[in-house]
Amino acid sequence: MGYDFLMERPERMIAKLHETLCNRMKITSIEPLIVHGNLINWVFVKVTTDDGLVGWGEATLEWKPKGVVGCLEDLAPLVVGLDPRRTEHIWQVLFRQGFIRPGIVALAAISGIDQACWDIHAKSLGVPLYQLLGGTVREKVRMYTHLAGGELDSIYHTETGAQNVDLAQRALDHRGFTAIKVLIAHGSTAPLDSLTKLRHVESLMGALREGLGEGVDIMLDFHGRCSPDMGIQYGRMLEPFHPFWFEEPCPPDNIAGLAKVSRSVRIPVASGERLVTRHGFRPLLEQGACAVIQPDVCHTGGITEIRKIASMADTYNVAIAPHNPMGPLATAVNLHVAMATPNFLIQEAFFADVPWRDDVVTGCVEIEDGYALPLEAPGIGIEIDEHEARKHPYKPDRILRLFHADGAVADW
Ligand SMILES: [Mg+2]
Repeated sequence: MGYDFLMERPERMIAKLHETLCNRMKITSIEPLIVHGNLINWVFVKVTTDDGLVGWGEATLEWKPKGVVGCLEDLAPLVVGLDPRRTEHIWQVLFRQGFIRPGIVALAAISGIDQACWDIHAKSLGVPLYQLLGGTVREKVRMYTHLAGGELDSIYHTETGAQNVDLAQRALDHRGFTAIKVLIAHGSTAPLDSLTKLRHVESLMGALREGLGEGVDIMLDFHGRCSPDMGIQYGRMLEPFHPFWFEEPCPPDNIAGLAKVSRSVRIPVASGERLVTRHGFRPLLEQGACAVIQPDVCHTGGITEIRKIASMADTYNVAIAPHNPMGPLATAVNLHVAMATPNFLIQEAFFADVPWRDDVVTGCVEIEDGYALPLEAPGIGIEIDEHEARKHPYKPDRILRLFHADGAVADW
């Protein structure tokens, strides 16, 4: 036998090790679970393995839940049978093997599958997910809130300065937050708006700054309603109040317009919640169009892709503040990304959009003095409680629509 034995045995051992590490576990099914979260439907994704391990992801996409569910059905045959721990390989399969590049609906489905696979991988090792992302780079995660903690009528229909201050202060006090985002310019915004409207927004911002004081960071979201030049008018008028950032001051697909606003206004511009993948963010970064990007871990391709987007942004000294008006699982996933991402800035979350928000998951995010504490259970650290979740089945999303005074369509 001699050398043959010595030569063959390591190969057999390597083959066995390969079998153990790479092929032992297989995805057996991918199932969606829709929960109606008042304004939108949350789409959760359950990935089951032959090993008995189950992972969860969130693939929520505003006003397209049935499209995402359909994509999950289309994509499942590509990954059933693969080892869920091969997160990069699975992402490549899902993104590249359909020939047509996935748009935001398919990328939401990919995001949910990707998150669930990371969840399974971390669970299989018995560690919190952030450990697989390089471990912690911070001890806790700064969060920001919304008027009334994300209660939707408050966000979209608060019209007076006094109401804004009252709802903001109560939301801040709830868990010691020191940052809040306000959709300050309600209603449609014309390419060039009247001085009356400008003055109204100025008075709202003035009330907020006076009522909340200089110790609170106030983000202003314009929902891409303005033309770039109108955005510049708003921005210059609001500069004296020192907003923390100026979000989507013009349509987000007008990268040159965003860059123009960034050059013209002394408030950091934030954008990117409607962009997907590195390819979508690249021109934003190359053109110096903003100081903060807002990728959404449920839209942009999951944990695998948001990490690469963050790294790419880091080379431009651009921070990430992930978009997240989503369900409770997405908030947990974002916390793991934030714990392990150096150029993370601050995390969005809703807390009071529905009173039963925390009931549909086991475990919850703990917040102290405006900071979320890391989730330490294996995996994402939060599971969907299917029994509770099924108490809130799919209903059509609430449609919000805006029109100009002459009946023409406006962005909301
Ligand atoms: Mg926004």
